[in-house]
Amino acid sequence: MGSMTALRPLDPVALRRDFPLFERDFGGRTLAYLDSAATSLKPRAVIEAVDGYNARYTANVHRGIYTTGEEATAAYEGAREKVARFLNAAESAEIVFVRNATEAINLVAATWGQVNVRAGDRIVLTELEHHANLIPWQLLAQRTGAVLEFIPIDDEGRLDQAAYAALLATAPRLVAFTAVSNALGTIDPVREMTAAAHAAGALVLVDAAQAVPHAFVDVQAWGADFVVFSGHKVLGPTGSGALWARRALLEAMPPFMGGGEMIREVRLRSATWNDVPWKFEAGTPDVAAAIGLGAAVDYLAAIGMENVREHERGLTRYALELLPREVPGIRLFGPRSADERAGIVTFTLPEAHPHDVATLLDRDAIAIRAGHHCTQPLHERLGEPATARASFNVYSTTEDLDRLAAGLRSVQRVFARSA
Ligand code: PLP
Repeated sequence: MGSMTALRPLDPVALRRDFPLFERDFGGRTLAYLDSAATSLKPRAVIEAVDGYNARYTANVHRGIYTTGEEATAAYEGAREKVARFLNAAESAEIVFVRNATEAINLVAATWGQVNVRAGDRIVLTELEHHANLIPWQLLAQRTGAVLEFIPIDDEGRLDQAAYAALLATAPRLVAFTAVSNALGTIDPVREMTAAAHAAGALVLVDAAQAVPHAFVDVQAWGADFVVFSGHKVLGPTGSGALWARRALLEAMPPFMGGGEMIREVRLRSATWNDVPWKFEAGTPDVAAAIGLGAAVDYLAAIGMENVREHERGLTRYALELLPREVPGIRLFGPRSADERAGIVTFTLPEAHPHDVATLLDRDAIAIRAGHHCTQPLHERLGEPATARASFNVYSTTEDLDRLAAGLRSVQRVFARSA
C-alpha cells in the first residue's frame, strides 16, 4: 500500500454530489449508507460509462469489423489497461475480467489447482476468510485429497504469525488469505506473508476484495501470484471484477470454461487456446460492466487512493471513539487501533440481536449489515452467531456515524421499554 500522490483531505460532502443515490428522499432524509463493504454506491461517471456503451456503441467485442464493434472492443480493452494501471500490474495481459472475486478464486482453484494440487498437498488459509476464499478450496480438497490448514487469529482478529511460520514449515503448495477482513477490518501484512510463503516454496493468492476499495494495491510490490477483487465494491458495476496473475502462471494454467473467445483453432475433437487473458474469458463478456469498472478506477485514481485510505482511517478512528462513548455496553470487534484496520467497524449490542438492530436503524434511513457476513467460521471463533457492521467509502461522513450512534441509542431505548 505505497504512495502515489501527495496527501490531501478528501471532501466526502462534495463527492456525494457525484452519487445520485444521495438525491433520493428517504422520509425527509438522505440515506446514511454504511454498508459499502457489501457493495459500494456508484458515481455518475460509472453510470454514464455503462449507459454510454448501451446507448451509443452496443456491439460484441473482438468480432465486429464496423465502427461500433471497434469502439466497444477499444473501450473493453481500454478498461483492462485502466485496471492494470490501477493495480500497478506489469501488463494488461495479466488482468482477466471475471464477474466477481468469487469467480476469480474459483477460476484459480479449478485451473491452477487442477494441475498443481495432489492428494496430501497442503493449502494454508486463515480463520478470517470470507466463504468465497474457503469453499473453492474445500471443493478442491474434496476433489484432490489435499489438506486445508488454517492460520488462527488472536482476540483482536490479527493473524498469528508464529502459527503461520509453523504451517509454512510443512511446505504447503498454496497460501490463500484476505488482505483485509470483511468482518473485522483487520489489515493483514500481505508483503511479509507473501515473502515468507515464497521462501517456503508456496504460491500465494490474495483476496483483495476489501483492499482494492480502501487502499492503494500494488500487485508488484505485494509480490503475490494471484490477486482477486470485485468491481462492485470499488464503485463499479455488479458483474465486474478481475483476477490478476503473473503472465507465466496464466500461460501454464488450463482454461476455466470452454466456448467462444477462449479458442484459437477448433476442430471437431480438439482445440487450441487463445492468448492470455482471453483464454480465460469464454463467451461474450459483461462488456458494459468492464467499461464501468474502468470508469470507477479512473474516478478513484483521480481522488488518490492515499486520500481514500486517510479518509477511512479518520472515520474508523472517529467511530471507535464515538460508539463506546455514546452507546453503553456496545461490544466492538477487531483491532483497537484504526491504523490496523480498513473502514469497517463491527459490533454487537447487549440488548438486541444484530438483525433487530439493522431493522430498527432502517426506519431512520441508516443502512448497516447484520449477520455472519459470509464468515461463519470466524463468527464461531468470535463466539457470536451474528454481528452488526458499519462500513465506509469515499462518500461516508462523520455525520453518518453520528446518525448511527443516535440510532443505536434509540434501539437501546426501544429494548429498555420492552424489557
Ligand atoms: N472476499 C471478501 C473479503 C469479501 O468481502 C467478499 C464480499 O463480500 C468476497 C470475497 C466475495 O465478493 P463477491 O461476492 O463480489 O464475489
